[in-house]
Amino acid sequence: MEEKIKIYSFFGPPGTGKGTVAQKCAKDLDYIMLSTGDLSRKHIQEGTDLGVMLQEYVNKGQLIPDDLITQMVFDWLKSKIVEKKPIILDGFPRTKGQASLLIEALKSDPDFSNSIFKVVNFDLIEEEIIKRISSRITCSNKECQEVYNTIVKVPTETGICDLCGSPLSRRPDDDPAIVRERLKVFARFKDDLLGFYHDVGQTVIHFAIPEGPPETVFKMFSKILA
Ligand code: AMP
Repeated sequence: MEEKIKIYSFFGPPGTGKGTVAQKCAKDLDYIMLSTGDLSRKHIQEGTDLGVMLQEYVNKGQLIPDDLITQMVFDWLKSKIVEKKPIILDGFPRTKGQASLLIEALKSDPDFSNSIFKVVNFDLIEEEIIKRISSRITCSNKECQEVYNTIVKVPTETGICDLCGSPLSRRPDDDPAIVRERLKVFARFKDDLLGFYHDVGQTVIHFAIPEGPPETVFKMFSKILA
């Protein structure tokens, strides 16, 4: 029998490093990843019609409405699932509504019939999250968006991306006031989402993020994948 295609949802507050883990899975293990945050920011930077709609939510640290974000993700998933590689959805679903739409689609849409859904919950205390986000800088090139950290992942040349040479900058929504809003929004939806997974019998793998550089975190995370 053909092996099922794994679709992982990486769930957790901003600043836990789940994006970095997803990028490493893509680079080292040939997974395909979608960061809904990155895709949204790309639309905004490019000034697409969708980007204009998304901007008012993203720049204020609020969630994009479920129907809008879900459509974006489904379009992307359908174009990628044919590659038959494990997939990571970094930051999706974030609400019970999104999870319910996704689980329904995975069950009923023939395009997704050979897939299996797994959720990983990245867990970190709020104090550490704030510390990490305030030291986070991101590549300004919308095709790259590599994430650095002035404490644990320092770029070789200050202010310049190691991968593509573009300038690094702070994401507008990493401003401390907006971060506080994003954490509030996350907390508001979290219990409902985890409650929904429990009710429908969806297993959630909990990953308590260890201290240390991205390599240490990834090593621990690999054990979960195994
Ligand atoms: P992130 O880079 O994952 O922290 O996401 C940045 C922003 O993108 C969030 O604050 C939201 O405005 C938007 N966003 C990303 N993923 C979602 C999602 N699943 N549902 C709603 N909004 C999202």
